[in-house]
Amino acid sequence: MKNPRLPHLTERRHSCVSGRMQPMKILLIALFLLPNLIACTTSPTGRSQLMLISPESAIVESRKAYLSTVSDLDKKNKLVDDPLLMDRVQVITGRLVTEAIVLYPQSAKWEWSVAIIDDPETVNAWCMAGGRMAVYTGLFEKLKLTDAEFAQIMGHEISHALANHTAERMSRAMATSLGVVAIGLMSDHPVATMGGAAVAAKVALELPNSRTAESEADRIGIELATRAGYNPDAAVTLWQKMGSMGGSAPPEFLSTHPAPQNRESALAAMAPEMRALNPKRKLAAVHPVTIVK
Ligand SMILES: [Zn+2]
Repeated sequence: MKNPRLPHLTERRHSCVSGRMQPMKILLIALFLLPNLIACTTSPTGRSQLMLISPESAIVESRKAYLSTVSDLDKKNKLVDDPLLMDRVQVITGRLVTEAIVLYPQSAKWEWSVAIIDDPETVNAWCMAGGRMAVYTGLFEKLKLTDAEFAQIMGHEISHALANHTAERMSRAMATSLGVVAIGLMSDHPVATMGGAAVAAKVALELPNSRTAESEADRIGIELATRAGYNPDAAVTLWQKMGSMGGSAPPEFLSTHPAPQNRESALAAMAPEMRALNPKRKLAAVHPVTIVK
């Protein structure tokens, strides 16, 4: 399916700010929606998901958004090349990916990769559709993560992608004017060379997940991490650390990951069942993961 393009974005930008926004909005929304018929899919936990974009298109558009993001970071010299940290991220993520492919064989063909972003103030990580991930150095510096806790974060993020949450969030970005406004704001930026849906992929990263999506990612993520050989109790200590960072400067992670009150207790309740999946904590093989540099 051909993806929507917005070739005249820059030229039309001024009409947006001069009060003729409405027809432009309608046109853009139509461009978004027409090629991607609304579809209803089912998440791995059996929940029905309303999609304005297919999971396959979400992967294609996420790739464009990711390449643009990574290229910007590279120009600003913000990609970490510390071999110790790269190795740690690669090995732990690679073990999770091995288990992700066992549970979701269609992800075997994904281009699994991680950009480690040099940003000691930002506590965040994400994974787009298609297995393209990022971690911020603030995660390690501010939370003093153990390997098992880092595995829980990445397991959770990978689960968002496996469960088509990227396509879901992109659908929300496309369905609200947020995506349209973002295109207007970004049109002087190189990102404007991306298609509209790729911009939605980028905007989707800023949107909070629904609580249901969070619970799904918690459930799948703790399982991936346990099967990969990491202690499921780390899911609980991770959220305790995250919670203690609250106050005036809550971690970026919490703005896109609304935490239900019972998150810690729900994860703690899952731990015994998880332990039984891999009682000896046998470490999984390390699937190749590209560290972007
Ligand atoms: Zn999440």
